Amino acid sequence: MTKLNCSVATCMYNQDKLCRLPEIKVEGTTADISDSTACASFVERKKNTFSSAYEGEQPNEELGIECMAQRCVYNKGFNCCADQISVAGNGARHAEATRCATFKIS
Ligand code: SF4
Repeated sequence: MTKLNCSVATCMYNQDKLCRLPEIKVEGTTADISDSTACASFVERKKNTFSSAYEGEQPNEELGIECMAQRCVYNKGFNCCADQISVAGNGARHAEATRCATFKIS
């Protein structure tokens, strides 16, 4: 499990820089830089609401991360093995405007 620091405040799953989902997916099959990755689990928040599916639940301190960025040093069998990652993209309106800021080329 990985600790997440997520600055994508426009995502409906974000709460206090944590995520309300039990697991997220990061894209970037051919990524060799952080900007070529993206959080595929991003869903734009409408009218300042949270996801009704996870309403009432606390955001997760740690979560599973399925990751397609196979060239990242922290990628082990398409799972992230970093102790902590940061997802960036403040003001994002779509997933492509987000990125894993912890990506590091292997
Ligand atoms: S640190 Fe690397 S393996 Fe972990 S989510 Fe980010 S890009 Fe994927």
